[in-house]
Amino acid sequence: MTERYPLIFDVKRTSTVDGPGVRTAVFLKGCNLDCFWCHNPEGKRAEMEYAWFAEKCLSCGACRREGLSPELCVDLCPAQARKRYGARYTPDELMAVLAADRDFYLATGGGVTFSGGECMLYPAYLAEVASRCQAQGISVAIDTAGNVPYSHFEQVLPYTDLFLYDIKCLDPALHRRGTGCGNELILANLDRLMQTGKQILIRVPQIPDFNEGEEVTRICAYCADRGLACEVLPYHRFGEDKKQALGREMLHE
Ligand code: SF4
Ligand code: SF4
Repeated sequence: MTERYPLIFDVKRTSTVDGPGVRTAVFLKGCNLDCFWCHNPEGKRAEMEYAWFAEKCLSCGACRREGLSPELCVDLCPAQARKRYGARYTPDELMAVLAADRDFYLATGGGVTFSGGECMLYPAYLAEVASRCQAQGISVAIDTAGNVPYSHFEQVLPYTDLFLYDIKCLDPALHRRGTGCGNELILANLDRLMQTGKQILIRVPQIPDFNEGEEVTRICAYCADRGLACEVLPYHRFGEDKKQALGREMLHE
């Protein structure tokens, strides 16, 4: 029954980096960009994935018997060296988690943030959960790279208070080199979104050998020209260990 809902790879409570105030951030799996620096590699593919963190492995051998499923290997591991990325929540199940911290959101000007991957690949699910948040007075933010049909925005607009909108670069050719895709749709969607009067915060990941320096400066000027708030995010390599662990998947050393 839950198969019709998207996979979620993390639900982070009491986050202070996914929008204003204290928030619960919900990370949905699947993305239609392929950024070479991706800091959430476990969010790129829409399907369930399994990873093996070699540095945590105790070599106990529990997962090395013939015919064990990846699921079972995760459950058997005593060291959390094996991990599954992906869980499905019905809107009711997700709301139960989100509503638990409602008092913190209200006290701090926080709320719920949908992120990913690219959460906007699933506008019907977002609209369903976000409308329930709205009914409970919980503020909703959507963190998106914007590379989806504008109709997806139209579905979530009535229930969304803030868009955290990524701009990675303005030059379409450079954007294609860095992400596998041009940025024409992203910039066109932003123009349309601005006309709705919704609150928008542009976020610019600063990436060495890609946009660092001149291109980031151009994006900041582009935002200033349009009266858009803009935040430059420092580069980090947090995704590297997960990328390696996913690559190893069910390999045994
Ligand atoms: S990964 Fe396998 S061998 Fe390593 S600690 Fe976990 S169960 Fe034991
Ligand atoms: S848009 Fe985000 S999740 Fe998608 S590939 Fe780029 S960095 Fe990764």
